[in-house]
Amino acid sequence: MKDISEIRSDFPILGRQVYGKPLIYFDNGATTQKPKCVIDTYSRIFTEFNGNVHRGVHAMSDLTSEAYENAREKVRSFINATKKEEIIFTSGTTDSINCVAFSFGERFVKPGDEIIISELEHHSNIVPWQMMCQRKGAVLKIIPIDDNGEICFDEFLKLLTPRTRLVAISQASNSLGTVVPVKKITDAAHSENIPVLVDGAQGIQHGIVDVQELQCDFYAFSGHKIYGPTGIGVLYGKEEWMNELPPYRGGGDMVEKVTFEKTTYQNLPYKFEAGTVNYAGAIAMAEALDYVLGLGREDIAEREKTLLDYATRQLISVKGLKIYGNAENKIPVVSFLLDGIHQYDTGIILDKMGIAVRTGTHCAQPVMDHFGIDGTVRVSMSFYNTFSEIDTLVEGLGKVIAMFKK
Ligand code: PMP
Repeated sequence: MKDISEIRSDFPILGRQVYGKPLIYFDNGATTQKPKCVIDTYSRIFTEFNGNVHRGVHAMSDLTSEAYENAREKVRSFINATKKEEIIFTSGTTDSINCVAFSFGERFVKPGDEIIISELEHHSNIVPWQMMCQRKGAVLKIIPIDDNGEICFDEFLKLLTPRTRLVAISQASNSLGTVVPVKKITDAAHSENIPVLVDGAQGIQHGIVDVQELQCDFYAFSGHKIYGPTGIGVLYGKEEWMNELPPYRGGGDMVEKVTFEKTTYQNLPYKFEAGTVNYAGAIAMAEALDYVLGLGREDIAEREKTLLDYATRQLISVKGLKIYGNAENKIPVVSFLLDGIHQYDTGIILDKMGIAVRTGTHCAQPVMDHFGIDGTVRVSMSFYNTFSEIDTLVEGLGKVIAMFKK
């Protein structure tokens, strides 16, 4: 892997100061910073070859369409999907999950059917299923978690019934950091012929994702969490499912023939890409994937594991600090509270020291309810963070504690 100072210099924002202090960015779970190559690609699209995709006979449209389809191929290869047609560009994980919840619900879900999610989910992998269940008269079943923040696998097995239509589960928890055994879940669900959607928003950036190995039927992720731009994401869906599902949105580009009597739809993937797509986002996201591949996904995972181990060790040594989420296998996320100090106070004071952490429920209110708390402070790391940044955080927490002792 490249030297850490070389890696950091790829990310222009990491050189800036906040309130006169060097920025220490520990909110990578919310969004990641962008390397210069991604920023340059985004700008190059609009300075060199911008035209709407799949619409024109002119050179600008052709060049953009080619770059857009190359981006699709890069995503296919990055997650090892079998076919390019299985890659749908969406606006992000939330959009991808809503698409499946709507389309799958319309086609396959009847009153009394059951959908399984877990207590660990982000609201994006709860609310679309609740909405679908309400629409279809279906029932949402919840896999509980234990006090370490791990999925109770035996309870999951008990929830699988002949009425189960789909399992939707995150690959890793954004609030606690738990890595979920998705392969074990897909194996169990598939033995009952039940499809599985994996919310990869917190999985894609921390290791190698191979959808053929995971055997998941749907996989969703966001570009902005893997060093790409905002407003772009991916829905991977196995061709046999996606061919069966009705389109989620109607409009230009997703149709074959339109008359007032009847409309026929395009084939995959265009059936699910109505209207002008975020082609600039897709092309720049593909650049981000190339950047990640250039660093090496195994090396990224190894470095982030070292950061997680160090941060965990240093943080538990802070008096009165309690960590929420002690799963055996975690992404580089540490969620915690300081005894007697509200998470917002901790977050605001750290911010004044140039340290960006996330505070609150992390869009995972049921997880907070499980622990009987109203939020945590979350430190979510990336390969570009350093050990000395962790030391500065720990020093900062010492100052927070001292302020509240007075
Ligand atoms: N799922 C998980 C686990 C997440 O962490 C997030 C983002 N915090 C989402 C879904 C939603 O992602 P987006 O807002 O990019 O659609």
